[in-house]
Amino acid sequence: MNQVLETRTVRVGDNVLIGSGHPIVVQTMCNTHTSDIEATVAQCKVLAAAGSQLIRITVPAIADVKHIEEIRRRLREEGIQTPLVADIHFSSEIAMAVVPVVEKIRINPGNFHPDHEKARALFGQFLGLCKQYNRAIRIGLNHGSLGKYIVEKYGNTPQAMALAAMEWVDMCIEAQFYNVVVSLKASNTVVMVNAYRELARLMKERGVVFPLHVGVTEAGNGDSGRIKSCVAISTLLSEGIGNTIRVSLTEPPQNELPVAQYLAHRYSDAPAPIGLSQKEETILKAACDWGAPLLNHEVDDIPLQDEYLKDELLQACRRRFYKPEYIACPGCGRTLYNLEETFNRVKAATGEFKDVVIAVMGCIVNGPGEMADADYGYVGEGFGKVTLYRKKEPVLRHIPEDEAVERLVELIRNDQVK
Ligand code: SF4
Repeated sequence: MNQVLETRTVRVGDNVLIGSGHPIVVQTMCNTHTSDIEATVAQCKVLAAAGSQLIRITVPAIADVKHIEEIRRRLREEGIQTPLVADIHFSSEIAMAVVPVVEKIRINPGNFHPDHEKARALFGQFLGLCKQYNRAIRIGLNHGSLGKYIVEKYGNTPQAMALAAMEWVDMCIEAQFYNVVVSLKASNTVVMVNAYRELARLMKERGVVFPLHVGVTEAGNGDSGRIKSCVAISTLLSEGIGNTIRVSLTEPPQNELPVAQYLAHRYSDAPAPIGLSQKEETILKAACDWGAPLLNHEVDDIPLQDEYLKDELLQACRRRFYKPEYIACPGCGRTLYNLEETFNRVKAATGEFKDVVIAVMGCIVNGPGEMADADYGYVGEGFGKVTLYRKKEPVLRHIPEDEAVERLVELIRNDQVK
């Protein structure tokens, strides 16, 4: 392992410390509806028992501020002290309203307002509140949702992602607010690794290095999702980059934890994984052993007998594509259909198309923006309806859910014979 990137330490709640010198912190996110307090409390209990050190919960509407407050109250009443992270998209009003009630808030400040100067002013106000309540924040920028201002100013590259993040990092430094974690996720493992490397370099140059939350977004499920996450996360961790991780899978969120724990344990003094199967361990070990050499182009092939594992590793590192590339969000409280089942149906129906990137996204609010470089997208609208996308364009709207997979296959097939 290279030298660990020296970072500041961020405190979340009373007991969780994130930063160099501390074991890597593992976390995940609820996929229940936040308004369903019973279900969300029940899921938080499962996640805390499985070792999640932070639990993120979406707060999609202002009414959900009360819901997350109640969820936290019930958890504390039952003796569960795991800090909660509010996941906020777009609304500075919700971000500010939730500051008094949770330990950490995840935001993308660039989306606070379409006018960039106004977004900056709102972020300044938000930082003032976080300072007052002694909260932690995560500045979370994703490759697919950089925002028009950023793309026009810096482009849509890993370097652009890092520069965009630095603008907010600088505002935190100016405000002397240091309880900050930063993430730059992407579903493309090469983009993701390069974005974090660049951000680490820029922060080092600036002389203030905030801890990094590392993850591959929309990694999918099963072996592919695990391998895609592990090749990229392990590459960064082996370079000393990364202080907290989420392995994002389109599966029940507790399934993410043994994978994250394996990584945290391999690259820091974090505890050993709970409940990792032998098969999973073999896959994760291969992904960690071969991820960096493949992503860094140090090797072109790998001496594995298992052809399936070899194909998966080469595809995860974007060195050779043997099947469609799938992007699927993990789902959250915004998801309005059975994402896991649908994703599996899409995979089963589209295996014949080799050179396409297919995205399956849980909601129409963030799905289209988040699917980055997908060729086709299946996006849930809610109320049993789906919109199908070609690149960023919605081409078939309001398709009944039970016809949507078939229509997606038709769309791809027709494009291929043109
Ligand atoms: S795209 Fe998926 S994970 Fe992201 S907000 Fe929508 S449902 Fe949640």
